[in-house]
Amino acid sequence: MWPDIAKHIAQVTGEAFEISDRTSVGGGCINAAYCLKGSGQTFFIKLNAPTQLENFAAEAQALKAIISTQAIKAPRPICWGATDQQSYLLLEWLEFGSGNRQTWAQMGRDLATMHRAGGAERFGWDRPNTIGATPQINTWGDNWADFFAEQRLGFQVRLGNRRGGGFPPVDQVIAATQNFLRDRRPQPSLLHGDLWSGNAAITTAGEPVILDPALYFGDREADLAMTELFGGFPAAFYQGYEEVWPLDSGYPQRKSIYNLYHVLNHFNLFGGGYRNQAQHLLRSLMS
Ligand code: ADP
Repeated sequence: MWPDIAKHIAQVTGEAFEISDRTSVGGGCINAAYCLKGSGQTFFIKLNAPTQLENFAAEAQALKAIISTQAIKAPRPICWGATDQQSYLLLEWLEFGSGNRQTWAQMGRDLATMHRAGGAERFGWDRPNTIGATPQINTWGDNWADFFAEQRLGFQVRLGNRRGGGFPPVDQVIAATQNFLRDRRPQPSLLHGDLWSGNAAITTAGEPVILDPALYFGDREADLAMTELFGGFPAAFYQGYEEVWPLDSGYPQRKSIYNLYHVLNHFNLFGGGYRNQAQHLLRSLMS
């Protein structure tokens, strides 16, 4: 497998490439990851089963979409493919350091700039992708409330009920979500889609980076909400964001509904205590 990958790298970079060192990188949720060195170059590579090639292709397209906004840094995809045993995605290697007030404020400004960059008149994306290991449907739609109700909460509740979540019937959840968001008319923003702290980092050169997207065009508040779900980003991040594009009133009320999507997804992926958290949020949505 590794010789095939080395050959592919040489093909796309146009330079001879022989692997001299391969070190496992921890921290990912889904894939095995390595730092790959050879011929004076360093790359980051993710591996999964051959059936996951489509997901890697979607991730590469998402990273390119983020990079093309020129608003925020994301690792450059170099090549992706599959052998008999593995599929892989090769990215530019980035060296991460620790952030400070300035770099996190810059992260906030950069994310707001990406959210403002436009690029679509509707909600969704060109292809389905995944959120963690769960499929994420991105069929284009004109109405945000319908999109989020059906393709985000509805999809996860249906899945959750099949997995014993005991959530309310999906039609009722969809109707309550449509009702809750009926006055929300956001512009479609390019979203990272899975922006917890593990998917945001600062390079040793002080550049903010976002990683591992579950990209689609949606309400920017959905990205902001997720940054708050597991402990939050540094305060400077939110100050930087608001310098570029202040949040709309009503965000504090909407954010728990946006995060319900991720809580349901965590129940579907990991089970456990996420069930109670999802039940609690669903009760407040439907009351
Ligand atoms: P997964 O798809 O399995 O969740 P991630 O994309 O989150 O994997 O990557 C796992 C970890 O590898 C990240 O938390 C980060 O620390 C590191 N990492 C990701 N991309 C790069 C990169 N381009 N260069 C160096 N390290 C990276």
